Amino acid sequence: MIFSALNFNDEITYLKGVGPARAKVLEREANIRTVGDLLQYYPYRYVDRSHIYTCAEINDETQYVQLKGTITNVRKTGTPHKERVEATFSDPTGSIQLVWFRGTKYILNRFQEGSTYLVFGKPTRYQHLFNIPHPEVDEATEENERKNLGWMAMYNTTERMKNAGLGTSGIRKLVFTALETLSHELVETLPAYIRDKLGFPDINDATRAIHFPKNNRELSKAQERFKFEELFYIQLQILKHSKFSGQPQSGFVFAKVGDTFNEFYNHHLSFDLTNAQKKVIREIRTDLGSGRQMNRLLQGDVGSGKTLVALLTMLLAVDNGYQACLMAPTEILATQHFHSFRRMLDGLPCSVSLLTGSTSAKERDAIHVGLKSGTLNLLIGTHALIEDNVQFKNLGLAIIDEQHRFGVAQRAKLRLKNSLPPHVLVMTATPIPRTLAMTVYGDLDVSIIDELPPGRKPIKTYHYFNNRRDDLMRFLKQEIDLGRQAYIVYPLIEESAKSDLQAVENGYDYVTTHLSQFKVSMVHGRLSSQQKESEMNKFVHGETQIMVATTVIEVGVNVPNASVMVIEDSQRFGLAQLHQLRGRVGRGNSQSYCILLSPQKLSYESNQRLKTMVATNDGFEIAEADMRLRGPGDMEGTAQSGMPFELKVANLARDGEIVTLARDVAQRVLTADPNLNAEENRVLTFQLRKRARTNIDWSNIS
Ligand code: ADP
Ligand code: MG
Repeated sequence: MIFSALNFNDEITYLKGVGPARAKVLEREANIRTVGDLLQYYPYRYVDRSHIYTCAEINDETQYVQLKGTITNVRKTGTPHKERVEATFSDPTGSIQLVWFRGTKYILNRFQEGSTYLVFGKPTRYQHLFNIPHPEVDEATEENERKNLGWMAMYNTTERMKNAGLGTSGIRKLVFTALETLSHELVETLPAYIRDKLGFPDINDATRAIHFPKNNRELSKAQERFKFEELFYIQLQILKHSKFSGQPQSGFVFAKVGDTFNEFYNHHLSFDLTNAQKKVIREIRTDLGSGRQMNRLLQGDVGSGKTLVALLTMLLAVDNGYQACLMAPTEILATQHFHSFRRMLDGLPCSVSLLTGSTSAKERDAIHVGLKSGTLNLLIGTHALIEDNVQFKNLGLAIIDEQHRFGVAQRAKLRLKNSLPPHVLVMTATPIPRTLAMTVYGDLDVSIIDELPPGRKPIKTYHYFNNRRDDLMRFLKQEIDLGRQAYIVYPLIEESAKSDLQAVENGYDYVTTHLSQFKVSMVHGRLSSQQKESEMNKFVHGETQIMVATTVIEVGVNVPNASVMVIEDSQRFGLAQLHQLRGRVGRGNSQSYCILLSPQKLSYESNQRLKTMVATNDGFEIAEADMRLRGPGDMEGTAQSGMPFELKVANLARDGEIVTLARDVAQRVLTADPNLNAEENRVLTFQLRKRARTNIDWSNIS
């Protein structure tokens, strides 16, 4: 065979040991198409194989062992139905049995008497003797010792991969061959000055070390390098297009606090702002006066009073001659905001309209005219707001409520509603751990409302199994008799909208039968918006005492008199969603309760989630727990808003320090060389281009 050197970008079939069949499996199961993909298929865990044990050392505490010795007496045993192969392994200190239950035919003729083997596996005890089931066996050649001794990588593999001989040891062999036959050095992906500063190995050493580490130290340096690299390029990408872009995005100047704001603040507000609200308004005013476009994320736990901050900010826009809009994720929420804004603004020279999917054509026309001519000051709505035919005369401020419900693209679109992009304020009650915020919303400034309005009592949360429904009904009766209201919420699974409806309707029947003295509203996705609104209104105005609903009421709904939130099948909700739902109560001065119902049998994770909910009301603690339990990629909120990237090696829950480091370094690099023109930074530009697989225009993302 002609010797052929291998390139990083070569198809994986060029690698010795990979034929068309294996190539197909690698592509389908592990997304490995090229030699480079294989080298970047990083192990998920390592076992210590640096030491050669002896048979005499094996005891009940032994985890994985590696042994060196001979194999004799290979024999078929068991019954014809349950065939197995056993063999005797011996070293100078003793012997141990090796056992195979699968692939027995192949094993029978595999070993030669007189040869020395390296055997690796996990001893198990059977009665008083140890054996090693399905050990990895290699001839004890010099090459194999070099390959096997050290920290041994374990790779994620699927059943299909294993059947194709691509279990963890199969993959390890391929990686080894690839590294041996690669024709050239790997192309460095981090500038030397950054590597030197941080003490990271170069790309060749790091790649070898992450697959075949000699020791723990070498391994952690390599891992650190790849994690850093991944996070660093994300930060660089985010920062390059925001503050450090060379030309800061100029924005409208809202110089004054005018009559509308002052009139509202002094005469329409029936309570004092909390200190946290005041602090946030100050931060926003500084942004608005700076001449630079504001991009601010406002985080505040449910019920902390973000809506009021939104309204005050919108009044600043109006006083300075601009229009403002507020986009909410659901029609119910948009409608609620509209009504409360209209009520609060009553008597002020400030017009406000509502635009949603169910706004009539006639109203819509009037809104379009008002927006174009400038007679309409404030627009509140759903996605309908960002349709192309909605045109403003001079939109100065766009606010997005419950940010986590919107996708990146939608936010970008809102920014394009004016020639100069409007100031943007995004609000979210889904608390985002700091590391995640720095990564997903890296170009936003963050304001936090870390205080609830006075007089709020912490919500008491209980977890009931379904068999306590009678107790629950008694409790509901007791609370409603005190003048309170209650929600009963059902999960919504999109694939089976029918059975959801069924669950809600059954629930409705159950409550109306067991608490027949009370009036009950019902809201679910199958109702028209008019029906939804009318059911919702009855509850808002206290005409009904109980609201039976699917999660359409999840975000933002504000009925301060409601004091009980019952969540059916609560094990089916994620933590962030449970926290949002719970936040619908505890909005007034009375003690509020959240009852989590579930079947008795729960998975570990569900159980942990419910325990967390019972243990704490703190949104940030809940977010951290969520991240630990599910990993940040699956975290609600980010999954919905579509994390604009995928992390392969770094873990936002565990690698917080590396996130911070990556951000610092990215910031420093851009301060010194904003356009990355320096020779030493060429590699950065190249990598950024290569990594920008999505066609998202980062400059338009808020
Ligand atoms: P969220 O931050 O979840 O959007 P809201 O803006 O809906 O919270 O506010 C929750 C409730 O608290 C509303 O009824 C609102 O009127 C009230 N509220 C807001 N700020 C204050 C305050 N400073 N003092 C008393 N009540 C307030
Ligand atoms: Mg809100």
